Amino acid sequence: MSAHQLIITQRAELLTVLCGGGSAEPLECVLDLLLAWEVLVWEDYLNIRVAEKPLCSNIRQLLDVVHDKGEDACSLFLAAINQVLPEEQKAGLCFGKGCAVVGKNRPDTATLMLLVDRPVLVTKLRDNIDGALNVLLTTGCFTIQDCDGVQLPVYTPSQQVRRLLDQVKFKGETAAKTLLQYLEQTEPSKPKPEDKENHLSADCLLYQKKLRSSVAAQSLFLSTYGGAGRFSLDDIYTDGLLEVVDGSGETTTLGLEDMVGPIGTLNEDADTILLSGEAGSGKSTLLQRLHLLWAREALLTNTFLLFPFSCRKLNAEHRELSLKELLFLHCCWPDRSQDEVFQFILDHPHMVLFTFDGLDEFKHGFRDEERHCCPTKPVPIPVLLFNLLQGTLMKGILKVVTSRPQAVGPSLKRYLRKEVHLNGFSPSGINCFVKKHHSDPAMARRVIDSLQVNTVLLGLCHIPVFCWIVTKCHQELLGGQDGIPQTITDVYLLALQHFFQRKSSLSQGALGKAWLEEHLDTVLKLGQLALEGLEASCYVFSGNELQRNGLTEQDVSMGFLIYCNDLSVTDCKHYEFLHITLQCFFAALYVVLNCNNNCSAISRLFQPQHRQLSGLSQRCLGHCIDPSVEEAESHVAETPNLQITAQFVSGLLSQRHHSLLLDCCPTAVRERKFKQVAKSLSKGMQRHFKSIPRPVKGEKKSMHAMPSFVWLIKCIYEMQDKSIAQDAVAKLDVEHLKLTYCSIGPVECTALAYVLQHLRNPVGLQLDNNSVGDVGVEQLLPCLHICHSLYLRNNNISDEGIRKLLEKGVKCESFQKIALFNNKLTDACTQHFACLLKTKQNFLALRLGNNNITSQGAEQLAEGLSYNQSLQFLGLWGNKIGDRGAEALANALKNSTTLIWLSLVDNGVGSAGACALAKLISQSKTLDELWLNKNCISRDGVECLIEALKMNSSVREVWLRGNNLSPEEEVELSKQESRLIF
Ligand code: ADP
Repeated sequence: MSAHQLIITQRAELLTVLCGGGSAEPLECVLDLLLAWEVLVWEDYLNIRVAEKPLCSNIRQLLDVVHDKGEDACSLFLAAINQVLPEEQKAGLCFGKGCAVVGKNRPDTATLMLLVDRPVLVTKLRDNIDGALNVLLTTGCFTIQDCDGVQLPVYTPSQQVRRLLDQVKFKGETAAKTLLQYLEQTEPSKPKPEDKENHLSADCLLYQKKLRSSVAAQSLFLSTYGGAGRFSLDDIYTDGLLEVVDGSGETTTLGLEDMVGPIGTLNEDADTILLSGEAGSGKSTLLQRLHLLWAREALLTNTFLLFPFSCRKLNAEHRELSLKELLFLHCCWPDRSQDEVFQFILDHPHMVLFTFDGLDEFKHGFRDEERHCCPTKPVPIPVLLFNLLQGTLMKGILKVVTSRPQAVGPSLKRYLRKEVHLNGFSPSGINCFVKKHHSDPAMARRVIDSLQVNTVLLGLCHIPVFCWIVTKCHQELLGGQDGIPQTITDVYLLALQHFFQRKSSLSQGALGKAWLEEHLDTVLKLGQLALEGLEASCYVFSGNELQRNGLTEQDVSMGFLIYCNDLSVTDCKHYEFLHITLQCFFAALYVVLNCNNNCSAISRLFQPQHRQLSGLSQRCLGHCIDPSVEEAESHVAETPNLQITAQFVSGLLSQRHHSLLLDCCPTAVRERKFKQVAKSLSKGMQRHFKSIPRPVKGEKKSMHAMPSFVWLIKCIYEMQDKSIAQDAVAKLDVEHLKLTYCSIGPVECTALAYVLQHLRNPVGLQLDNNSVGDVGVEQLLPCLHICHSLYLRNNNISDEGIRKLLEKGVKCESFQKIALFNNKLTDACTQHFACLLKTKQNFLALRLGNNNITSQGAEQLAEGLSYNQSLQFLGLWGNKIGDRGAEALANALKNSTTLIWLSLVDNGVGSAGACALAKLISQSKTLDELWLNKNCISRDGVECLIEALKMNSSVREVWLRGNNLSPEEEVELSKQESRLIF
């Protein structure tokens, strides 16, 4: 078959391989060769390479031009493709008989020389762009604008060289000569044959350079700041709270650099690191920061290559790909030596890092079934991804995966090296973010002050996405016509108003009172797209899909949808909502405002059992659904998103927004929906209560909250209806409510307090191992009166939080126990405990283990204890009170008629302290256990204790393991007193 015919018969295949990766690089390399071989003249090139047109139409144009030029041009074109494409992409293509490129005489002008050498120059100049531009600028051939035009960050280095060459051609012969001269001067001496090793790594270095610059270009800006208010990541990035829990349950705070380090490793054999956090907690942004710092060689300096992936975008890849194709097509195309570069990756896994953002948005749930280990064999994307994560494929390469916690089940957890939690901003992080956002310090101050007086809003700002909205909408916020936002629905309505306001102030000025009604059409169209997308796990929409939903350019220009420019698998425009939570908000608006839907949408949102059974995606974006995905598999992303949507639905139906929605939806419909939601929430709560097991005899009746309990509470909070909150817990009859490890932060505390304050009888509220923090503690105050015990172990609480808690606590009659093990407490909080102990003569248990309390703090506590006649349990394990502290406490407690249990384990207490405690023993009529393990008590101290025990029959045990005693002394002393335990 002639080359001419081969081009006609293989047109579709040629088109696919040339635009398969969405990267223009293969086409540009082919064009370089065709220009050098004089198949194309400059005019052809300009007609083909039209930047405004999609890549595939440029390729079609090239095919047409070459076809029209006849047989020779066609065979040279096939030869060029053969040279440019990697082996595996050429499979199945026929290149004909081939043809020799005839070497012609060297051209006689510098401009033509640059054209003939163009393919080589693109590679050669990539490392010297700055130098070349400098020479062209200083010789007056280029202006600064010319240089800026060449170096736009959207271009890869190869593209920058091509722009430079095009510009030189445009400037004429003098510029071309200057460039050639420069190239001659910088020509390195010819490599020696024995330099083969260097030659190989030089190609890898070139690839690394290209990858770094492409990763840098993708991560420079934050997507939520697209459009007018463009912020670079450097300007706005604020550190979040990163934590890891190690095998013994201890929480450690991490820096960004520790993400891939050894701290917190639970499984040495696994390579996958999970970064988990709620929606909007900043996971994608953190990953973006990591990418940018790697690209600048400022972090992860041992990582030679970093490949970033977005699971949202992998959803759109329906082809079967090999690992090699996945890396090169989705991340960065090697301009040469693809095989060597890939071999380097295979040979050096410890120098490579993969990141996968948003596993919770991947529409296939993790499956641990199909094993695949061949890096060059094409398989469906889920198989590839899952085998990478569980380590069958490319063992040894570290992978960082981000996800909301709910989406990571036990089958994937087995393969995790460690799990790092991102808990949003700290209070100082919020201030820092606001200051970075507002260049005017006075404005930043006003926003910060307004947050300080509204702690509910401050609590919300701990989640970065809310903080971003609140800061962005500061004018509406400070204007404060509609009251201060209390719920996330309030915050998102503020954002909605802000976006419409921004648009309308450009045209007709301020928004009217009926602003929502005015924009109802846009809201409903966006809402429908959002809801259908959520139900089909679809977060990226093509222009056609927008059109099908009736969305016009004007709707898009409102700014809720952003152009997602790095969707490299296809080359038509794609859009996504500014953030997933905004997609949920629009979906909720649709559920509430669309008068045509029956109530099934609400049932589906609020009754989890309906979600599994109703065949949701049948009614959704047909075009979003991958026909190969079985429905059972595509549930992963749904639940958390539909839960957020349900929260917004609850908020929108709240009485507070009645007047805003008045003319957007008939009152009768709205009320029907309101009743349905209220009923669903009440039923949901009842289901929980029914799950409470009967109390074991002698134990408290206790309820361990199921995962959706907190969600139901948050929905109730959004409704801001006291009677619904009252009804919800009216029948809850438990003594202990356990909410440990439930990702409870300040936002959840606000909602919990709102509902639990209506409990009829006091409960023990156990919130251990969450991220309550000082702001969360403040949010809990409204329900403190109904807590007889508060367990806040491991919650990042500082003295300031305790000050506020105890200020209220002293006034709460029922409040009798508190546990604060492993927080950030110092001597600055002990005066408040002293005051509590003095004032509350029914307080029973104070546990302050693993904090930073010294002898001074202990002395202050002692002050309070000497006036107290109720405390039974005092725990100070793992502080630093020393002998002085022990003496003060012993002295204060010796007249106690209630103390049963005292722990001073690991406190640097020596024999002097032990002797003081001996006096306590000799006088106490109630003490049962004394814990003194891990101190520095020696024989003298123990002998004092023995003497005291002779006068006391109530003490059962004195624990003394890990003190300054030899094994022989331990044996001898325990013979003298059997209640001593060594
Ligand atoms: P997630 O991936 O957890 O849903 P994102 O990273 O998308 O959260 O964050 C949502 C928005 O919150 C971002 O677009 C940005 O505006 C803001 N944000 C998140 N983290 C940070 C941060 N560390 N510094 C500054 N802004 C942040």
